[in-house]
Amino acid sequence: MNSYYTATAGPAPDFPRLQGDVTADVAILGGGYTGVNAAIELAERGLDVVLLEARRIGWGCSGRNGGQAIVGLAGRARLLRHLGPDGARRAWELGIEGLRIVRQRIEGFGIDCAWRPGYFAAACKLRQLDELKRECDQQHGLGYPWELSFVSRRDLPGVIGSRAYVGGVLDSGSGHLHPLNLCLGEARAAAGLGVRIYEQSPVEHVHHGANPSLQTPAGRVSARHLIIAGDAYLEGLVPELRGSVLPAGSYLIATEPLSTERARELLPLDCAVSDQNILLDYFRLSSDRRLLFGGRCNYTGAVPRDIAGTLRPRMERVFPQLRGARVDYEWGGTVGVSLKRIPQFGCLDGNVWYAQGYSGHGIVPAHVAGRLLAEAITGDRSRFDVFAGLRHLRLPGGRWFATPALALGMAWYRLLDML
Ligand SMILES: Cc1cc2nc3c(=O)[nH]c(=O)nc-3n(C[C@H](O)[C@H](O)[C@H](O)COP(=O)(O)OP(=O)(O)OC[C@H]3O[C@@H](n4cnc5c(N)ncnc54)[C@H](O)[C@@H]3O)c2cc1C
Repeated sequence: MNSYYTATAGPAPDFPRLQGDVTADVAILGGGYTGVNAAIELAERGLDVVLLEARRIGWGCSGRNGGQAIVGLAGRARLLRHLGPDGARRAWELGIEGLRIVRQRIEGFGIDCAWRPGYFAAACKLRQLDELKRECDQQHGLGYPWELSFVSRRDLPGVIGSRAYVGGVLDSGSGHLHPLNLCLGEARAAAGLGVRIYEQSPVEHVHHGANPSLQTPAGRVSARHLIIAGDAYLEGLVPELRGSVLPAGSYLIATEPLSTERARELLPLDCAVSDQNILLDYFRLSSDRRLLFGGRCNYTGAVPRDIAGTLRPRMERVFPQLRGARVDYEWGGTVGVSLKRIPQFGCLDGNVWYAQGYSGHGIVPAHVAGRLLAEAITGDRSRFDVFAGLRHLRLPGGRWFATPALALGMAWYRLLDML
């Protein structure tokens, strides 16, 4: 993967392949934020944990994403609709706790991942600005722990050097970071807590029952509990989860390093930015002053042939100042989209747990998931069940149906964005 992150990652810890049979209290499939954070939380509670990653730690979305660590688990209106006022309130609190976990991991484990506080939710139209204003007022009413400020069109130049927006909300709690370095640092911390991590150990079979286990080509982990944390990369391995998340492509480009003056002109506060469309554009500066610009590439769900060719015009629409800037990296990944766009938490047969479907906004939710999975496995399901009680729709026909369904969904969301 020719990503900016793999090119600039710190030294990656080297974990062995699984060889032979081992036992543990909990066996985890997947070495992204969900799996690694569940491992940390379980190890901190004194459990013996083994984690299996098919490729390398952070190979999935956790090592490829836009690096925008944004508060919350899903949109407030959606949470209210699906979870009711009490559930939405608890989900809102969990969203704040998730952001705190990210910040504590970085500080507590001393992870060098270029954390910068500051996130700007940018409105493309007045309807979105009204919604943002309403949400900002509600958050103030609920006691948001960081600074949230409404930015009018007049004040935009202090936040962003672009005429593409009509205003927005600036959040000093959320921020941006090098996502792969975060995941690698967390894996190193998990190993330091005694978690046994095996890379290049793809799980080929998940055995359910009273003594569940994960089977790889060269070994097996038997445990009292399993956690499935493969999200969109699970690819039908667990029949009960097949069709539960739509695998949607999201893509990024990184420009050449910009001059200090140009970088300051584009993003004077060095904050992360996402627009408020459902099929959104998102961007930020890297620590070496490249613009990392991401978004969808098409409305069919197909893997694009030319990522830069598609994203560059959109980047230049937001920042005409970048016309002619070189693009050094382009890459993408597969996001697990839940049809309700609310994370999916659940338990199969009483001992196979899962968390997935963060729908493109997963850094904070995956950190919450790690904690809630650990709480549930050690006997307290009260917070896990805020989400686990929600019924999620599954697409019949698995992958075959997923691509046309995704194309249809994309077209529908595009229509909503145009209104
Ligand atoms: C391009 C892009 C941009 C994004 N931008 C943002 C953003 O700015 N902010 C944000 O909050 N979110 C963003 N996201 C979403 C976010 O990255 C994900 O929601 C989050 O990382 C999911 O973490 P995870 O651990 O659940 O899954 P992943 O990180 O995808 O990890 C799953 C892991 O499971 C492994 N696996 C799968 N099957 C097996 C198997 N059979 N055996 C062993 N291992 C297996 C995979 O190899 C993979 O490493 C973005 C995603 C993409 C792709």
